[in-house]
Amino acid sequence: MATLAELTAVWAGCTDCELSQTRTTVVVGDGDPEADLMFVGEAPGLHEDQRGVPFVGQAGKLLDELLEMIGLTRADCYIANVLKCRPPGNRDPQPAEIEACQGKLHAQIAAVQPRLICTLGNFATKLLSGREHGVTRVHGQARRATLGGNRVVLYPLYHPAAALYNQRLRPELEHDVRRIPDLLRMLAQDGELADVASAVVAPVPGIAAEPDPPSGESEQLGLF
Ligand code: URA
Repeated sequence: MATLAELTAVWAGCTDCELSQTRTTVVVGDGDPEADLMFVGEAPGLHEDQRGVPFVGQAGKLLDELLEMIGLTRADCYIANVLKCRPPGNRDPQPAEIEACQGKLHAQIAAVQPRLICTLGNFATKLLSGREHGVTRVHGQARRATLGGNRVVLYPLYHPAAALYNQRLRPELEHDVRRIPDLLRMLAQDGELADVASAVVAPVPGIAAEPDPPSGESEQLGLF
């Protein structure tokens, strides 16, 4: 399997979608390429596009603070985005762009093999869960999934940029982030993710019961 460094070199000249015409840099990822913990955001912004590193603007500063709150730094995790190129004016990712880029995200997940993937905001949450539920409904709810052949746990969080825009989201974001160390501990102890299912305490009614679409091999874990 290609290493992240090899993939990054290949993707540097990507022309898979129209964003290649306006971007400065293909922003692939940052952090530990063997991390247990991965964050997936939406798309690079202005600062990320200029520097070639994800989450280095205001949202990144908040992400760093949240990590510090639980005793981690970005060197302890791997950070990527749904899109690797900045949408002009930071507009929302378009379906065709997400489709063109999703193979890269899956290749990153396959290379890093994280145990826990925190999806930041709606785009990452919907893409990786294969479900339509937005982050307002599912944030803080751990869910087992199979992505790129890897068994992982998805843990949706509000996007830090959303919490900067709407300060009322900040306590909930912090609350959800504070649970990450416990989740990582559980997943490290139960190397077999199947064992984690025995930690189910209280599945959230209405979510566990709903069938997943064929692409979304994921299943609710009522871990907290
Ligand atoms: N927002 C994102 O989703 N990703 C970044 O890299 C920066 C801001």
